[in-house]
Amino acid sequence: MGIVYKNYLHVESGGKILVCNSCKTHFATYDHILDRRFYGQYGKAYLFSNVINVYAGEAEDRKMRTGLHTVQDIHCAECSTVVGWKYLVAYETDQRYKEGRFILERTLLDYIQM
Ligand SMILES: [Zn+2]
Repeated sequence: MGIVYKNYLHVESGGKILVCNSCKTHFATYDHILDRRFYGQYGKAYLFSNVINVYAGEAEDRKMRTGLHTVQDIHCAECSTVVGWKYLVAYETDQRYKEGRFILERTLLDYIQM
């Protein structure tokens, strides 16, 4: 995808950085998880307001257990693995807080403890 360089996250000693399970690219810090009660295709997933070193695929409508959403898959910028998705539109009023936020699937992540 023409990514020339990656960004790196920094945390205090003892903090955790969530990284790509395949290539260890940094995505987010553990402290930045907004909600860990989400489920993805492969089980547990985490909600974030921002994730770095990813690119988004085509927007598509997806019927989820919480209703219809327009989402984009997000890919690791280094290895292109689909690691989660971004919510663009939530059609149920009580799901609107997810708009613009990101999901990362836990089984596709590893972490680095600093
Ligand atoms: Zn990767």
